Amino acid sequence: MNFGSYTDRGVEAAAELVNQLTSGLDRGRPVTVPKEVGSRQRMAAAAEDAIWKSGGAELSAHDTEGMFRLAARLRAVFEAASTGDADRAASAINGLLQEYHAAPQLASHDGEPWHLHFQSQEKEAGRARARGATCATALAIAIGSHGIRRMGVCQAERCDRVYIDTSRNGSRHFCSATCLSRQKVAAFRARRASRPGDTECAGLEANPSSSHPGSGWSATHEDGQI
Ligand SMILES: [Zn+2]
Ligand SMILES: [Zn+2]
Repeated sequence: MNFGSYTDRGVEAAAELVNQLTSGLDRGRPVTVPKEVGSRQRMAAAAEDAIWKSGGAELSAHDTEGMFRLAARLRAVFEAASTGDADRAASAINGLLQEYHAAPQLASHDGEPWHLHFQSQEKEAGRARARGATCATALAIAIGSHGIRRMGVCQAERCDRVYIDTSRNGSRHFCSATCLSRQKVAAFRARRASRPGDTECAGLEANPSSSHPGSGWSATHEDGQI
């Protein structure tokens, strides 16, 4: 499934920006937005480069703070979407469209057919504003045509990174394959812990020559089905 290539890039960029520039937990590891000005500038510039391939972008102090602010505002949209609150997600997006003066325009260049560019009305207002207009417009189009169910916050333990669900049946719950397997392991352990009988059997299994070989085999068999 896709939202159209330009929209796809915009919604993926929005998710990436949230994941790179908001504090929280990334696949079990803490992410902390630094307080020091120089570190903030480097972090924001690295995100800008990684997401928009700007090739060593230097961000002004104003743009740096604008990028962090944008990431925080976008996170609120993903969080609203993940709790099923379409009203809050939609009004947050409307707020962003207004604040970033989004002014989508049809453009035709390099022999491409007419297509939508997601720019800001204020072309000179700086990079953060331009990125904000792009992300807000892309999310508005995605939500307008598919609702909020394609946006979410990772449901794995110790992770709060966000994602865009482009799977065919909209069944994604995790930010990454890493979190999907982390959660499988956690669920497996939880099931085992909630069945004390298994622990006993596992002990027997470790010692197959014990006087209860039957129990040991039974544990092996059950384990194989989990
Ligand atoms: Zn274009
Ligand atoms: Zn995750």
